[in-house]
Amino acid sequence: MSNEKQALLGDEAVALGAIHAGVSAAYGYPGTPSTEILQYLIDEYKKNPSGPSAAWCANEKTALEAALGVSFAGRRAIVTMKHVGLNVASDPFINSALLKIKGGLVVAVADDPGMHSSQNEQDSRFYANFAMVPCLEPRNQQEAYDMVREAFDVSECFNIPVLLRLVTRLAHARAGVVTAPKKQQNKVSKTDEKEKWMLLPAFARKNYASLLDKQAVFEEWAFQHSVNELTGSKSDLGIITSGIGCNYYEENLDDFIAMRKKQGKKAPLHLHIGAYPLPVKKIRQLCENADEVIVIEEGQNFIAGKIFGITGGAFTNIKPLIPSGELDPDNVRAALGLAPRKSALRTPAGLPQRPPQLCQGCPHADSYETINKAAASLDPRSGHPDVAINSDIGCYSLGAAPPYSAIESVVCMGACIGMAKGASDAGLKYSLAVIGDSTFIHSGITALIDAATANTPMTIIILDNSTVAMTGCQPTMVPSEKLVNLISGCGVNSSHLIVLEAKKQLLEENAAKLKAEIEYRGLSVVIFRRECLEAFRKNKKQ
Ligand code: SF4
Repeated sequence: MSNEKQALLGDEAVALGAIHAGVSAAYGYPGTPSTEILQYLIDEYKKNPSGPSAAWCANEKTALEAALGVSFAGRRAIVTMKHVGLNVASDPFINSALLKIKGGLVVAVADDPGMHSSQNEQDSRFYANFAMVPCLEPRNQQEAYDMVREAFDVSECFNIPVLLRLVTRLAHARAGVVTAPKKQQNKVSKTDEKEKWMLLPAFARKNYASLLDKQAVFEEWAFQHSVNELTGSKSDLGIITSGIGCNYYEENLDDFIAMRKKQGKKAPLHLHIGAYPLPVKKIRQLCENADEVIVIEEGQNFIAGKIFGITGGAFTNIKPLIPSGELDPDNVRAALGLAPRKSALRTPAGLPQRPPQLCQGCPHADSYETINKAAASLDPRSGHPDVAINSDIGCYSLGAAPPYSAIESVVCMGACIGMAKGASDAGLKYSLAVIGDSTFIHSGITALIDAATANTPMTIIILDNSTVAMTGCQPTMVPSEKLVNLISGCGVNSSHLIVLEAKKQLLEENAAKLKAEIEYRGLSVVIFRRECLEAFRKNKKQ
């Protein structure tokens, strides 16, 4: 449907915008708060198999590489991921800036300021800056829809990937979006662009020079972009907003103007930024006409940190807001010097804490009881000090909390296997890695190959619940029945590759089998298998 108003999540607005922009293929890896973009596209593809294809991938890197192939074939592609997923995809992302992008390539990344469901709150605008590619940052759902359409056009116009940056509250809030007419998909076209597509040093040097030349073009594009609007005239105060920060500023604007009027002060200058690279001429203009500048940006101090350099060190009276955590109408209000809203919602004091927990009956609960029992039996002293239990990212990270308190490290996707290998190499007697089946495929498998090659004395425990549970039960890339063959093909000795059913009734028996594998002085892999309850309920419903 086009030219109609629909109530869409920010993520859905991106997905629908991509369809209406004539996207041919979409790839991604689930991760909050980005998951709903590709989920929407997959649902649409199921309804209309002749429309744009959409599929989950093993990880963000493989997703971006598939999208590059689509672009080389002349068609439009979108890749979706959360902010830390861009770390995984950073190799093809940074390098793709040097390529001559053919079909529009949009990398949609949803950041998680406040770390609702993430291990850090890195700001993806730094990645766009590092790769030297344009970035668009919508302030609302309508802009999310419009900007993804624009991003494809910009990508094809400048032959460059374009990063679309979202944040949690935009991705997961719903608002009315007016849609535009749908464009046709590009036709497949094969041209020989090998000098522009091969980053062999001789070609890469030329391509890098071309990327450097494009920077002035991108800066002019950002300067002219209507979203980067500077309003107001000379004032004691300048305000810079970016993305969703503008909404919180505007929500307080009437009170702010009234307060300043009472103080005998003029309305402040206001520059909103939604298209990057930074519109440096407008930032200079603002700084030349204000004594002080407040920067309201969500994430890290991307804009605030660059003003000093942009003004040649001439302007230093910069007040950045919120170096960590989310913006909201109240903390923006406080930064503007306004009294708290009477209607502001406040959490009553003294409410009990409700930390996240595994679902009742979760298979991981039984696996952790078994792991703890086996680990405790290795050493009669409490706390089993000779055992390192490294873990990973997924529902099973909750094994860190009571009553299990089983794991001691969670760093990034797939890291636990490498860390367990390192602990063993360092001389720790019993080294374990606890990882989910999907995280294992995402990026644990390469570290398993290292451990298998060295036959490191350690035990990898794969919690196979047959789904990507934490992000809403997306399908795993490798189903349970194929997992054993895959692991054995990586070089794991089949007599130390066992599958156990994660079941309370089998606690004693499983703990004894696990203990034997932990004591084995070579690499062993133990798979605890039982379907996630949420996935089971969903599948039953379907
Ligand atoms: S969603 Fe599934 S894997 Fe996650 S806690 Fe619930 S039952 Fe366990």
